[in-house]
Amino acid sequence: MDSIDGTLIRAWLLRAASVLEAQKGYLTELDAPIGDSDHGENMARGFRAVAAKLDGWTSADIATLLKGVAMTLISTVGGASGPLYGTLFLGAAGPAAGRDALDLAAWTACLQAGVAGVRARGKAAPGDKTMVDALLPAVAALQESPGYPLPEALARSAAAAEAAAVATIPLLARKGRASYLGERSVGHQDPGATSAGMLLRALADAAA
Ligand code: ADP
Ligand code: MG
Repeated sequence: MDSIDGTLIRAWLLRAASVLEAQKGYLTELDAPIGDSDHGENMARGFRAVAAKLDGWTSADIATLLKGVAMTLISTVGGASGPLYGTLFLGAAGPAAGRDALDLAAWTACLQAGVAGVRARGKAAPGDKTMVDALLPAVAALQESPGYPLPEALARSAAAAEAAAVATIPLLARKGRASYLGERSVGHQDPGATSAGMLLRALADAAA
């Protein structure tokens, strides 16, 4: 497989829905000490809704699919993460406009545009202990993977996001609910960075 097509995007979204359902308790556990214990339920609900709508989205155009995901997440997830994940998918749809397959460079552009959207909307800087901390290294890993087979590049990107999620533990939260805790946010892994790693891992696994 050397490109991401609509079939792979669909497989990704179904896998994401099942992973987030399975990991819902864990994500909520991460959200308990530095948030309000709803991140797992939020993400599981959002991707459950995406999975339920998938058959109705018949277009092969990847941008149309990604926009459908965005709108569904915005309308079902709620909290801070709903609009932000919605923005991620909406931003990613930009460079995918009119395309029914994305090579590694094109997917890199999509993820980069998505993360730029999240940053513009949420105003989180790198190191603020948010999903941005997992997403930026994922983009960087893709940029450092030219010449890699696509599945391998996606696996590198997922691994970078997962490692970066763990690396949020010592950070002081400067955005979102966790920031209300100040110093007490230190020592806990950010739930949104963790779910971002799970999403990118689901894509890599779907492509493998
Ligand atoms: P809420 O905080 O409204 O309960 P969730 O629990 O679903 O929403 O999501 C919390 C996650 O959202 C955090 O772990 C963090 O990764 C992410 N987040 C919160 N605020 C921002 C922001 N301004 N920019 C980027 N990500 C953010
Ligand atoms: Mg929460």
